[in-house]
Amino acid sequence: MTTQPTPCPDCARAEQNPDWGGYRAHCPECHARALAQSPAFFYSQNVRRLTHEYQGLLAACVDKDIAVAHERVKAWAERIQQTRQRKRAAQ
Ligand SMILES: [Zn+2]
Repeated sequence: MTTQPTPCPDCARAEQNPDWGGYRAHCPECHARALAQSPAFFYSQNVRRLTHEYQGLLAACVDKDIAVAHERVKAWAERIQQTRQRKRAAQ
């Protein structure tokens, strides 16, 4: 287990509201959150494999391996989805 860096202000907001739409260019966690909502991730999930394009985006995002980055993206995607479902249910 590695030590988690202090979250950037946008990631701190996303902890409270995963559907938060702010991102910082040099924050690895922001990159994972942005990828969770990207067409590349969506397509990759649909075809049930890591597409070349998506792998390239994962590799560019952090200094960790692709499998770890993919797990972070999936975790954010799930949190964002749950948040949106709760919002819809509340309407
Ligand atoms: Zn961030």
